[in-house]
Order: sequence, then structure tokens, then C-alpha cells
Amino acid sequence: MTTTAETRGFQAEVQQLLKLMIHSLYSHREIFLRELISNASDACDKLRFASLADPALLEEGSDLEVRIDFDSAARTLTVTDTGIGLTRQEAVEHLGTIARSGTAEFFSRLTGDAQKDSQLIGQFGVGFYSSFIVAERVEVLSRKAGQPATAGVRWSSAGTGEFTVEDIDRPERGTSVVLHLKEDAAQFADAFRLRQLVRAYSDHIAFPVLLRPDGGKGDYDRANQAQALWTRPRQEVGDDEYREFYRHISHDPGEPLAWSHHRVEGRREYTTLLYVPSRAPFDLFNREAPRGLKLYVRRVFILDDAEQFLPLYLRFVKGVVDSGDLPLNVSRELLQHDGEVEAMKSAITRRVLDMLAQLAEREPERYRTFWKEFGTVFKEGLAEDAGNAERIAKLLRFATTRSEGVEQDQSLAEYVARMKPGQQHIYYVAAESIVAARGSPHLEKLLAHGVEVLLLTDRIDEWVVGHLGDFDGKSLRDVAKGSLDLGDVVPAGERKAATVSSSALEPLCARVAAALGERVAGVRPSERLADSPSCVVRDERDVGPQLRRLLEAAGQPVPPSRVWLELNASHALVGKLEGLPDGDAFADLATLLLEEALLAEGGQLEDPAAFLRRVNRLVGAAEDPLIVVPGGN
Ligand code: ADP
Ligand code: MG
Repeated sequence: MTTTAETRGFQAEVQQLLKLMIHSLYSHREIFLRELISNASDACDKLRFASLADPALLEEGSDLEVRIDFDSAARTLTVTDTGIGLTRQEAVEHLGTIARSGTAEFFSRLTGDAQKDSQLIGQFGVGFYSSFIVAERVEVLSRKAGQPATAGVRWSSAGTGEFTVEDIDRPERGTSVVLHLKEDAAQFADAFRLRQLVRAYSDHIAFPVLLRPDGGKGDYDRANQAQALWTRPRQEVGDDEYREFYRHISHDPGEPLAWSHHRVEGRREYTTLLYVPSRAPFDLFNREAPRGLKLYVRRVFILDDAEQFLPLYLRFVKGVVDSGDLPLNVSRELLQHDGEVEAMKSAITRRVLDMLAQLAEREPERYRTFWKEFGTVFKEGLAEDAGNAERIAKLLRFATTRSEGVEQDQSLAEYVARMKPGQQHIYYVAAESIVAARGSPHLEKLLAHGVEVLLLTDRIDEWVVGHLGDFDGKSLRDVAKGSLDLGDVVPAGERKAATVSSSALEPLCARVAAALGERVAGVRPSERLADSPSCVVRDERDVGPQLRRLLEAAGQPVPPSRVWLELNASHALVGKLEGLPDGDAFADLATLLLEEALLAEGGQLEDPAAFLRRVNRLVGAAEDPLIVVPGGN
């Protein structure tokens, strides 16, 4: 290993981050202090945890604390901790790169437009690098716990693309971050200002944060409460404190939408503090992204991202679980097979569902935000967590034919309350987009009778709704499958007339079926069309087109399915078809009705060129001129 100084370049993303951050966070630049104290606290947590297995690590002193020193004449501000410390290698890795997976992809989405990009950067925890908003140079002096004094490292950078590392002697364990403040940030080297900032942002830090009244001289005194926030009684914790604590544990600079803080006593003892963020992280759909709660055992930090306490569909939840019962030497592996943990997981799941139900009821606006950000993930719960399906179903939100725009803001309960007299089922249509869903021919009859239809456009919708089955005793029906069963919604007279015209259409259906052969499962008169000549319908148990595309994209085998072609007895084209004798023209038009119907549900034609030839033939053969010459009549 080299002992000399060495200069290295930052990872490309770090450079980009530094540039953007200075621009976008300038007006809240005091957050640098919260980030440094947060890191110092994490370092103390890590050392305490490491010392469980190796008590010798604390031999140099068992005080875990954070000290803030400043020198207003020299314009420096130093945050020191007695935590785990960094090796040279770790300093290079942790302070020169962004470890989070998906970071490169996130940065590739930046546009170069500073205004827009600062919005994006707001979702990205900036951490240590925020020191460069106020500092023209940052030095990190550190020595890892358990290593000799000669194993220290100095990391130093002006935040302009490179950093330097060199070996140093450092008798004290832990890390000092020295900020050489920019001229216009001199105000931060001030005892009053610092104390105020610690109170505002870092009061919840579980370790003492120490300050000297006048920087250089006198004794240190504690500037924060230094008590783990979740151990305090709920009534005594202010909303702002809850919010700050959220920022500390989540590394999300934003605000939580809701939180829930509980102590469980009795056979099992534990405390949970759970948060719903207000914005989805950029890596929400990355299955490898870290997720889960911060695990403490009797206030000792054990693990970040303990995913065993939450189901996958609640992976957006952040928070802390502090167990009174688990052993201090618990490991990820042990957690995986622990019955206690399993029981805690179901209780925590219920807590989150309760918190969401409360949010939906009391603060519908905030709930809409939740749904926009996390709805797609949350509804996976219908498939993953059958035991809570009923609770989850109440929390679902949909766009429907009644919604104004594209927003998913209607609950099933609201739908049921609006059902038509005589309506037995909850109807839905699955399509690639809201426009395609609204325009689906399968909806025509329903809309004509004022029946509301859910518009499902997320790729997983068909799959999750398939797990729901029914809601409030009403079964969910795909409008493109099986029989619609409109029941008493259609007046008796109209039903009778429909039956008559349907049976009159049977002979034509038989002829079309013969012409289409293997391409369809059968042909029948439609009960769902009003304006379109035809549509395709699948059997109840068949895989629909949306799910089919999803499975195919995932490389899964999809069982072949054949569609029914339904014809609209009252449509002119169907009348025209009826008038044609068997032969090429008849087959052309029959095939066209099938192809149109497949296109209308967003499907792809096996042979698009043949389809076009067919259209051209039919247009060419039409008796009525389809092309109107402008000005002529
Ligand atoms: P985060 O805290 O979200 O991991 P930061 O940018 O704040 O991101 O810090 C990056 C990494 O640098 C930390 O994960 C940690 O490994 C290391 N680090 C920062 N400050 C300290 C410190 N005071 N002591 C030990 N390691 C630190
Ligand atoms: Mg940090």
C-alpha cells in the first residue's frame, strides 16, 4: 500500500452532483451541518455495533459523541466524531463515488437545464457533498477504530473534480471533517448560529452533539437532547422533530407524507416509527435497491435496510424498529428464519395499512399524492398479501369513465355507491393508455346505459385485479371477457329486442366463423357494442392482451388463446356483410372486422401488409366514393 499523497478524480456523477447541488441548494445551504452530524451519528452507531463482537474497539474510550469546533478568524468549522472512522481505502471509495445503485441511470436523466435538474436533484440525498456548498476546501482526517495511530488518512478536495489522499498520524479514533468556509459563509463559524442549527436539525441525534460557547476556549456543552427520538413519548415529540428524524434515517431531503409511532408491550416488546415518503425514489422499481427499516435492539443500532420487517409491496416505507427481545448479535440470516420477526412483520404491515387508511380518510389530498407516487407498487399487495386483500382493496384508486383526466382518484367504495340500480358487477377495461381504454368498443353498451367502468392502464393491473375477485360482494368483470351480464341495467323491452336481433344474426355468424376458420374460437352476436361493428372477446379464464404483453416482455411462455369475434347486429357494415354472397369479398370484409377489433384493443396484426391490401381492395371496390373532392358535390 502506498504511503504517499495521491490525487484522484471524482466519479463523473459526483462532479455533476457537486455542480448542480451548489446551484440548487444555495438557499438552504445550512443543511450541510445536518448532513455532517448525521454521518457522524451513523459512524458512532456503526462503532457501537462493531464493538458488540469486538469490545476491544472501544478500549481507547467508550464515549461516542460529536464535537463541533470553529475558528472565526481562520474561517474554519470542524465536525468531529469518535465513531468507526475510515481507512484510506474507504475514504477513496466512500468520499469519491456515489455507491447507490442506479445512480448513473439517474444522472443520465438530467437534462442540462439547471432549473429542471435542481428539481430532480432534490430527490437525491446529497449527504457529505453538501459541505461544498459552504466550503472552498474540505479536509477529512480520520482513523479507523482498532487501527494504530499511524493508520490515519487525510482526504482533501476543493470540490472541483479531484481529491487528494495521504497517510497521516492520527492518535484519536474517528473522523474530523474540516470545512474551510467560503467568504460568504463565514457566518457559520459562530457559536450562536451553530447551536441554533443543531437544535433545529439535529436535536433527535441519539449521541451528544457538543459545542463550546465561544469556539476555542471553555468547556464543551451539549447542544441537543441526545435521546433516541423513538424512545420518547409521542406527545412530547413535535412534528418538526419527526420530520427531521425522517431526513436523518431516510437520506431523503424531502418531507414524509405521514408517520406512525408505536410502542408495543406485552409478550413481545418493540417500538416502531414508520414513515411514508412524499416522493418515490428514483430506484423504486429497481429490485436490488436497498429497502427496509433501520433495526435497533434495545437502542443499539444493528442494521440498515432490514427488509425482513416489511413485505415487498410496502418497500417504500422508511423507519425504525427497535426490538426489546431480539439478541444483540442478530444477523440478516437469523432474521430471515425467525418466527418472532415474521410476527412483527405482519403487525408492522397492519400498522402501515392503518396509517394509509387514516391518511385516505383524513387527508384525501395527501393520499392522492401517495397514490401517484406509490400506487403501482402498493397494488402488488393484492397478489403478495392475500391475507390483507380486503384492506388493500379499500385503499386502491382508479381512473374511471367518470374521472375528468387521467388521474387514478376513485375508490371501489365510491364506484359501488354509484352503481346503477340492477347492476351486479364492477366492470373494468384494461388497455395501454387512458385514451385507448376510454375508446374501447367493449365499453359502448355500458356507457350508453350510464354504467361506470374502471380504466386500468398500469401494466400489472390485469394481473393484480385478477387476484381481487370481488369487492363488497360485487365481482369484478373484465368487459372484454366472457359475458357482460348487464342484468337489470338494460330495460326489459330493450333486452327482448336485442334477443330477437341476436337470433336473426346467428346464420351470418356461422358463415363468418366458416370464413375465418382457425383464427377465432367462434363468432357470436354482441351484447356490448353500440357504435362499432365488431370486437374480440376472450374466455373468462384466458390471459388478456395486457397481461399477455407483460408476460411476453418478461420472457415467460404464454398459453395460446383464441378470441371470439362479436358482431354488432345494428351496424351498417354488418348489414353489408350479410348482403354479400360467400366468396372473396365476403371473406375480405369478415377478416377486416376481425382485424379492426384486434387493433382496437391495442393488439398487433400477424400480417399488417395483408391487412392494408385488404383495406385498399375494399376501399377501391366501394360503391360510395370515399374520397370527397374539395369543392365538388
Ligand atoms: P450516506 O450518509 O447517505 O451514506 P453521505 O454522502 O452522507 O451518504 O456519506 C457517504 C459515505 O461516507 C457514508 O456512507 C460513510 O461510509 C462515509 N462517511 C461519511 N462521513 C463519515 C464519518 N464521519 N465517519 C465515517 N464514515 C463516514
Ligand atoms: Mg449521510
